[in-house]
Amino acid sequence: MAGFFRKLIERFTRRKVDLDELEETLITGDVGFRMTERILGRLRDMGRSLDPEEVVDVCRREMLTLLPEVNPSLPLFPDRPCVVLIVGVNGTGKTTSTARLAHWLKSRGHSVMLAAADTFRAAAIEQLDAWAQRLDVPIVKGQYKADPAAVCHDAWEAASRRGIQYLLCDTAGRLHTKDNLMAELSKIERVIGRKDPSAPHETLLVVDATTGSNALHQAREFQKAVGKLTGLIVTKLDGSGKGGCVIAIQDELGIPARFVGTGEEAGDFDVFESRRFVEKIL
Ligand code: GDP
Repeated sequence: MAGFFRKLIERFTRRKVDLDELEETLITGDVGFRMTERILGRLRDMGRSLDPEEVVDVCRREMLTLLPEVNPSLPLFPDRPCVVLIVGVNGTGKTTSTARLAHWLKSRGHSVMLAAADTFRAAAIEQLDAWAQRLDVPIVKGQYKADPAAVCHDAWEAASRRGIQYLLCDTAGRLHTKDNLMAELSKIERVIGRKDPSAPHETLLVVDATTGSNALHQAREFQKAVGKLTGLIVTKLDGSGKGGCVIAIQDELGIPARFVGTGEEAGDFDVFESRRFVEKIL
């Protein structure tokens, strides 16, 4: 990832930082208005003209103060599956991320089951099924256009019967039909909640880092629809200087990044680490 701050440093080499230009860099870097204002406020408080390195230092400090240092891993229960709903707009990498999370958990010795609950796209069911075969993890799928809540229900029954530790449900992502989405996701929550009142245990939103401020908009809409998003899976952090949306979403909506996707392969996935992330975008 080519950090946008590197461009900033290049721009201000051999001259002091102009705060208006800095403001523009931060806004176009998608870190959000709040973070931008906070950084500018700090710099103004310092009350003198600043070298780029000093500015980057202030940015680093502010970002690390905002981002949680450690992200607790997914909960594990001795007697029932941990249910993880994966939500997000089509094209963000939701299905790939569901598969990669399954691979990540499996490679740590956990048992996993997939639920193909994005039943509005036949291709999504086929795609997740292909991943399940490749990763050798069980999958429960419904027919095309089947009720997604019924698929999750059947998957929970199967996971529970087989003593599976993690049930990952790939849900539909039609943000443009918000009322339907809301009804669909809350029905899944209700049906799963009838099986286990504490479920779903995690609802992870997949956002594509390259979409910039659009990711913040999606997070806001999904938070309204779902009520409690417990974290982000940030995809496509490879090959782009983007990633500022992670900061804006944490700052403005309080949703922490939990995992990152860095490619198209099963292994291109890891836990989000704030220090590593900030060093990359700086
Ligand atoms: P969905 O429609 O949200 O389920 O999206 P998909 O999982 O089908 O992914 C859409 C495209 O993005 C596919 O071509 C994926 O291979 C690609 N993709 C997903 N995650 C990443 C990532 O982290 N990095 C890159 N470079 N591509 C990704």
